Amino acid sequence: MIEINGYSRTCGLIGNPVEHTMSPVIHNNLAVATNENLVYVPFHVETGRLEDAVKGAFGLNLLGVNVTVPYKSDVIPFLTDIDPLAKRIGAVNTLVRMENGFKGYNTDMPGLLRAMKKDGVEVKDEHIILLGAGGVARAVAMLLADNGASKIYILNRTTDKAQAIADEINSYKCSDIVEVKKLSDYSLLPQDRKYLAIQATSVGMYPKVDEAVIEDVAFYNMLHTGYDLIFNPLETKFMKLAKQSGAKGFHGYRMLLYQGVIAYELWTGKDVTDELAEQVYEKMLAAMNA
Ligand code: NAP
Repeated sequence: MIEINGYSRTCGLIGNPVEHTMSPVIHNNLAVATNENLVYVPFHVETGRLEDAVKGAFGLNLLGVNVTVPYKSDVIPFLTDIDPLAKRIGAVNTLVRMENGFKGYNTDMPGLLRAMKKDGVEVKDEHIILLGAGGVARAVAMLLADNGASKIYILNRTTDKAQAIADEINSYKCSDIVEVKKLSDYSLLPQDRKYLAIQATSVGMYPKVDEAVIEDVAFYNMLHTGYDLIFNPLETKFMKLAKQSGAKGFHGYRMLLYQGVIAYELWTGKDVTDELAEQVYEKMLAAMNA
């Protein structure tokens, strides 16, 4: 731990709840490893108190703030500036101190991209199945379209929500890169290739660890990789089914690591090497198993 003194800077997390967060493990270990006089603490913000929290954080000279559920969109009106990517996604998870207030960033999506790179999973030229059409899936669809995916098939229980995402991205890209299907209609996808599937629904999350959004083995036989954004548990049923069909399987814990790493880089101006990130990842694994 850093020895706190009069020069110590504070960063923190605002959300509700924040009690199970891994972010202090990420940032306090990075601070020690990079010799930064910085301490990171969680702040539980009650409903209706978000504006007070952002103003208070600025008034108390906080260097940076992470924002989690349920405030990632609600925080935007209280910022003095917003990064173009965060603006387009409509969600901010990192606030960086500026002269007159905080600037908002989204490090979840660059974090996912960096995690996928580390896991050896390519997006460029891939035909990708995206399961889900919630807040995270919408941002992931944009990320995939911006990073050279050839085709994105969004499969969701509520197809209207998936169609709204497809319309938005197709009109932005002036193409038909995104197509929508019902969850049960995977057999209608071209069968002449294997797919990367990204699992962005909440199905299979702790405590309902025995569920997968699609259970049919025929679906998993269509995949070369199953990438689940869920990180609790570390091996989801979706991953197990993908692996049983001979595909690679990954979880979302490295995405969580790298959204934090990128936030830390924004706050401190220091680059975090992959080697250091992996050391912090080991600490996260130990904390999860503690
Ligand atoms: P969300 O907006 O609530 O969306 C939930 C999605 O799950 C929707 O597509 C919903 O379908 C689907 N769904 C829920 N229950 C279902 C069921 N019983 N059957 C079929 N589909 C179901 O959630 P979100 O904020 O996008 O988060 C999605 C996931 O991302 C969560 O599991 C979260 O853990 C993960 N995540 C990971 C990280 C990370 O750092 N690794 C960061 C953020 C989020 P409908 O549209 O039909 O309701």
